[in-house]
Amino acid sequence: MPLRLGDDVDDFCPKCKRLTNHSIVSMVEEKPAKVRCRTCYHEQMFRDGVPPPSKKDLKKAELFNEVLGSATAGQPAAAAEESPKKSKKPAPQPEH
Ligand SMILES: [Zn+2]
Repeated sequence: MPLRLGDDVDDFCPKCKRLTNHSIVSMVEEKPAKVRCRTCYHEQMFRDGVPPPSKKDLKKAELFNEVLGSATAGQPAAAAEESPKKSKKPAPQPEH
């Protein structure tokens, strides 16, 4: 059954800091665009129940990307391409 304006959906409320009932207040192409928390009446963009990343998580992701960037920068990309060619046997020559 398609969702309609005013229907209830579960979504993560940043004010309540948990999954709560939300009423759909705005829709885009049969999907909730904006919802209002039924507990605290806070309106927000519908995020399908996904909690926003905390500041701690953002910092962690930043650090992770830094480490990832420095790790890949020093390695030659060609190293991984060498081995498959060597293990390949030459094709058998056709006889007359
Ligand atoms: Zn709320």
